[in-house]
This record gives sequence, C-alpha cells and structure tokens, in this order.
Amino acid sequence: MKIIMLGAPGAGKGTQAKMIAEKYSIPHISTGDIFRANIKEGTELGKKAKTYMDKGELVPDELVVDLVVDRLAKDDAVKGYVLDGFPRTIPQAEALDAALAKRNEKVDFAIDVNVPDENIVKRMSGRRACVGCGATYHIVNVPPKKEGICDTCGGELILRDDDKPETVLNRLSVYHEQTQPLIDYYTKEGILKTVDGTVPMMDVFSAITAILG
Ligand code: AMP
Repeated sequence: MKIIMLGAPGAGKGTQAKMIAEKYSIPHISTGDIFRANIKEGTELGKKAKTYMDKGELVPDELVVDLVVDRLAKDDAVKGYVLDGFPRTIPQAEALDAALAKRNEKVDFAIDVNVPDENIVKRMSGRRACVGCGATYHIVNVPPKKEGICDTCGGELILRDDDKPETVLNRLSVYHEQTQPLIDYYTKEGILKTVDGTVPMMDVFSAITAILG
C-alpha cells in the first residue's frame, strides 16, 4: 500500500503517518526527519537544507526528489510505504509519479488531513521536539511524562526553530502557495481522500483506517 499524507504543517499528518506505518507494517518515510537527521550529522545536504528550513521555506526540489526516489527503492519499501512531507510541490508529485511509472507502480491513496489555519498556529506553539531522538510532543495534547524531558530517550525537549510563530506563518503561506495545489492534482488522479484533522487523534486515525481498509 503506497500512501501520501497531505495537510498543512502541524495538521498532525506525522502522528497519523507513524500510526499507519505501525498498523500496516510499512515504513514511515518523512523527508523532514531525513533532513533533520542530516542536519544533526552535519552533512552537506543537512547544511544546505537548514538554510531553507529555518526560514520556513521549502528545500529546492532537486535536493529532495532523488533522496526520496532512492529511499523508495530500498528493500523495506517493496510492500509499500507512507510518505510524510513529500511531495510538497507539483514538480515533486510529477517526479514521484514518473519514478513509480518506470516500475509499473502508482500511489494508492493521498490522504489530506484537513485543519484550518487558525487551529494550526495555536497547535504549533505548543509543539516540542526532542533534541536527542526527534520525537515530538505537545504541551497540552501529547505531554511528556516529565516536563521538558523526552519519554523515549531522556533528551531535552525544545520548540523547533521552524515551529516558532513567525516561521509557522511563513510555512502556512508556503503551504497554500506550493503544496495545496496537490489537492487538485490527486483529486484528478482519483485517489484523494480528505479527513477532518480537528477531531481527537484517535478519531482521525479511525477515519483513515476506514479508508485504507
Ligand atoms: P516537516 O517536518 O515535514 O514539516 O518538514 C520540515 C521542513 O523540511 C519543511 O518546512 C521544509 O523546509 C523541509 N522539507 C521537508 N520535506 C520537504 C519537501 N518534500 N520539499 C521541500 N522541503 C521539504
């Protein structure tokens, strides 16, 4: 099963993608996580990506597409995958379709987790990420057991630079300009499914599993 998660930054698509990956035993592939891992390791890709990410802008398509296409060719992806944060532009979606078509494959579902902008800004300011393992929390909705400390690895929890309010507003406008057109793109392909992302996390998940079967 090949699934794409769509939705504004902070709509909760990452959380849903992780749950889908677990339930259907397929890898969760997050381009944001791949970039953050590269930043942490100090790679050339990480250094380049960081300059865009810190401003809330998209990393250029040419730095993203090959990375994802290579990742999808790995053994663990033969049964399918859930893509989180990719594609984010029409050229990325076209590149993905072209790469899959070469192998006689196609995306099965594009799931849009729909949340209005005003909810997003509120949510993002409460988000916290672990500096150690990257796990994410929310001070109200998904709090860690001990304030400021990661449940999984004991690392420090911080507000990511790209979750700061001024950056969030920029990410939202980038989303509307560059990523929202994908809703039309996948509607035309006949694979778009929209779920209400404002309801509790487990209800969003139930709506998604009802679609995926
Ligand atoms: P995310 O964790 O998915 O919200 O991604 C964090 C940041 O990484 C984004 O704001 C972008 O700067 C960058 N990024 C992640 N995925 C992509 C992509 N597919 N295309 C361009 N930039 C991306």
